[in-house]
Amino acid sequence: MLCVQSYSITMEERSGIRAPNYGTMGQPFDPNYMMPPGKAMTSAWMNPALGPAMVSEGAPLVNPAVVTDGPTAPPSDWEVIPGYEGMGGDDGGKFLPPPQPGPIPGSVPTPANTSWTIPSISEDDARIALMDYAKSKCCYRSTAAQEMDFHELRPFNTYRYRLETFTESRTCKWVTAPYTGQAVDSPMCGIPPQPWDIPIQIPAMFTDKEMNMPVPHTSSLKACPQCLGIGRTVCNKCHGTGRIRCWICNGTGRRINDTCHQCRGQGTQSCKTCHSTRYVTCVGCSGRGQILNYINLIVTWKNNISEFVADHNSEFPTELFKKVNGEKIFMDEQVLLSPLVNFPAQSINQASQNALQQHHSQFFSTSRVLRQRHSIEWLPLTKVEYIWKGKRYDYFVYGKENKVYTDNYPQKCCCIVM
Ligand SMILES: [Zn+2]
Ligand SMILES: [Zn+2]
Ligand SMILES: [Zn+2]
Repeated sequence: MLCVQSYSITMEERSGIRAPNYGTMGQPFDPNYMMPPGKAMTSAWMNPALGPAMVSEGAPLVNPAVVTDGPTAPPSDWEVIPGYEGMGGDDGGKFLPPPQPGPIPGSVPTPANTSWTIPSISEDDARIALMDYAKSKCCYRSTAAQEMDFHELRPFNTYRYRLETFTESRTCKWVTAPYTGQAVDSPMCGIPPQPWDIPIQIPAMFTDKEMNMPVPHTSSLKACPQCLGIGRTVCNKCHGTGRIRCWICNGTGRRINDTCHQCRGQGTQSCKTCHSTRYVTCVGCSGRGQILNYINLIVTWKNNISEFVADHNSEFPTELFKKVNGEKIFMDEQVLLSPLVNFPAQSINQASQNALQQHHSQFFSTSRVLRQRHSIEWLPLTKVEYIWKGKRYDYFVYGKENKVYTDNYPQKCCCIVM
């Protein structure tokens, strides 16, 4: 399919090149995009060969906006490539019209699931957790954890809701590269495809990744702006004079009542950078006088995550939950998710609705949403009150890992004999 010819063109010839106008292209490669919710993910998801057959009964496909930017604007006489107009101009780029927003799915009941019951931590586990905590601190002693008497274990278990929206966005900009004689894939080789029509294999789901590629048939040669096509520029070291000031005598030609031996009294010496030729090879084009100009497509896959932890009504610092896992009690994955409605903790239903709404307004107009998943975790949190040497202390055991948080452990320094 790819036509690549090796040829060189002049500015005059190039100005006559125009990518032909063309109407609506066929459906872009788009495995399962906008597939109605409720369809299970199949192996076809990742298989472009099976893609077109699967989208036939889906919702209409909509191409998201393509962000265009980049200061490397082509000159005004540059050929306009349909679908890439106005890109990288003096205004700093152009935002192509956003697509129709995708459908907002209605609320659906959370599938009847587990009984949502939460087991409590045992005293043994609570003691082991505190002993491990004391041992993990270099100065703490663990005898208090060994000897303490439990007073009360109070559960403050809570839930975490997590929404992940996996998106693909495509950005285009003009870039230049030194021309080294390689083949030039110009509009004469074929019609440049629209940004979202370029088939690209989706990498692993819910994993961030970025990819760069030249848009086919958008390459052209132009005169190097740094040397104006000559291939050489004036030597910066000697400013085109071919000579530089002598570094021994600092240009005076003399050394303590004697003639400078380095420059033989001239005060200057020949420029080693240009070998006194006054010119150097242009770095912009490596001396060829031409540079390659093409549209670069940057594809970014991003997993956008929102998390919410339901109120646990305790003084435990909620942000510590970020470091631990919970017990996954619910999980769903779709192209487009619906908010949860009947989870026993109302704040989780609300969080689900808010997060989905936020992701919808944030990502659906600027990127292609490939898949969403959300989950609810049960987060264990127990406040343990204990007595040691007649005094009352407390600590929290949290997460599946039984981590400990406390600000009043009695043996914080091993130097003090207690
Ligand atoms: Zn000198
Ligand atoms: Zn020089
Ligand atoms: Zn140049």
